[in-house]
Amino acid sequence: MSNDIKSTAPASSNFLRGIIEADLAANVHAGRADANGNPLPPVVTRFPPEPNGYLHIGHAKSICLNFGLARDFGGRCHLRFDDTNPAKEDQEYVDTIIDSVKWLGFDWRENGAEHLYYASDYFPLLYSMAEYLITAGHAYVDSQSAEEMVANRGNFGEPGKNSPYRERLPAESLDLFHRMKAGEFRDGEHVLRAKIDMASPNMNLRDPAIYRIRHAHHHRTGDEWCVYPMYDYTHPISDALENVTHSVCTLEFQDHRPFYDWVLERLAEGGFFKKPLPHQYEFARLNLTYANTSKRKLLQLVEEKIVDGWDDPRMPTLVGIRRRGYTPEAIQLFCERIGVAKADSWIDMSTLEGALRDDLDPKATRAIAVLKPLKLIIDNFPEDASIDCAAPVHPHLPERGVRHFPITKTLWIEADDFMEVPGKGYFRLYPGNKVRLRYGYVVECTGCDKDEAGNVIAVHCNYFEDSKSGTEGSANYKVKGNIHWVSAAHALEAQVRLYDRLFSDPHPDAGGKDFKLALNPDSKQVVNAYLEPGMRDAQPDEKYQFERHGYFVADRIDSTPGKPVFNRVVTLKDSWSAAK
Ligand code: ATP
Ligand code: MG
Repeated sequence: MSNDIKSTAPASSNFLRGIIEADLAANVHAGRADANGNPLPPVVTRFPPEPNGYLHIGHAKSICLNFGLARDFGGRCHLRFDDTNPAKEDQEYVDTIIDSVKWLGFDWRENGAEHLYYASDYFPLLYSMAEYLITAGHAYVDSQSAEEMVANRGNFGEPGKNSPYRERLPAESLDLFHRMKAGEFRDGEHVLRAKIDMASPNMNLRDPAIYRIRHAHHHRTGDEWCVYPMYDYTHPISDALENVTHSVCTLEFQDHRPFYDWVLERLAEGGFFKKPLPHQYEFARLNLTYANTSKRKLLQLVEEKIVDGWDDPRMPTLVGIRRRGYTPEAIQLFCERIGVAKADSWIDMSTLEGALRDDLDPKATRAIAVLKPLKLIIDNFPEDASIDCAAPVHPHLPERGVRHFPITKTLWIEADDFMEVPGKGYFRLYPGNKVRLRYGYVVECTGCDKDEAGNVIAVHCNYFEDSKSGTEGSANYKVKGNIHWVSAAHALEAQVRLYDRLFSDPHPDAGGKDFKLALNPDSKQVVNAYLEPGMRDAQPDEKYQFERHGYFVADRIDSTPGKPVFNRVVTLKDSWSAAK
């Protein structure tokens, strides 16, 4: 895999579309009907997660691809839980996966019919197909120990050795298989294996295991089974049972495809399936810089409390990025832009953030927030006056109306907008300089107050009464600086979390590095900010552009009525590109 960070051009087409278009033109899957005689669409795809963790941005690529192909070619996409490994699976994961796929905007219904499936529902069928394979001489029960099996498997340069149990008569294997199911044996005592070729250059064809004994409670089937089918055996059968046409998976399964085809060919010979059989196609998984998408490592971040849970806004999980303020549209746009390729590459985080900015910019309500507050006192402003100011809800969408907020004698401004001794090119507040208080008046800075330690605690200025924005007089004032502010007496005090990338290294675990050493120490800063008063009504999940700062969202978990808490979604500009 290359470590190069590739910039990506928009991809409107991809090789999978080409394959589907050719199949449609050749009527490969035309005129099919399901077991009940209902007509089947010519394109059926599936998204097949194992419910053993939370979905992440990599899964989003697979979801957008599979559901997108079905949508664009008049087909349907199934959501199927590949739940054949009882040890690691849980209902909690099933629920969050369903939620995340729906949130991304996809639907597994077609003409009112639900296409939500569980591989565990196929256990009885998978079992009877295994009985068939034994009877037909295509599978046998192996009674070697796990160590013997590993030793006899050979390696890439060396063929494997046949098991001494390989020539067991089908009747004997069948009897043992039944007794495996009946619970007569301990875990690992016997394994059902496909009988293919121990000398195959493809290790996946060296008599792969298809059933193993596992005395474990399954989150759906309970204690009904103590033998469980292997993933590589279950997957093609599930696809065929669901009449999947194009079974799309990531590249690491390329070497598994011959076994996928072997299983379906043998079962078609046995009359279980009709041709054309489903076909597996592989695409490059998403590798995103500054992120980690290994389920095991994400779990570690959660368990070691390095992040605040699966839905921590810094996590690349779909629940995390949703909470961060990502929109389904931004993720779909990102997946379109990165396209689908047949070779692995790295996608830079800035591509994801760019899609987010492009999606939020035309939508987000504008608002003012002072994140690092400093007092500004307008000395010549009438003591108790409160004068209304107006600003557009969105600068390019006048139909969205205006927001109102008052200007008063004492305001909050950003501490960075004042310098006692200005640096070169600094146009904001410093003694003797004029700036515009955005949507308000032009003021001239007169000086500042300091505490005993010499810290600036308040800035003083005078305003020009005829300079108000939106009035005729305003045109007479030409100033270079334009700063934002809120009235101290009216501001909403709110917690704002300034999130940034979780890792400061683009490849946190490259070359076996400890990914925890690459954590960005500044990935979360919490500040008490002052917001324009209308923000009291911000609803959870609502997105804003805090002018000059970036995009923010009212946190969907911690906000309460009248007291929103905000997360920074992304800054206005990419501050990381120089670091690449
Ligand atoms: P596991 O190691 O548990 O198998 P997984 O990330 O492959 O982890 P699955 O639940 O098997 O998780 O994934 C469901 C689907 O999502 C699979 O088809 C898988 O190929 C796809 N997928 C997983 N990670 C990515 C990724 N980074 N990019 C694109 N597709 C992915
Ligand atoms: Mg997987």
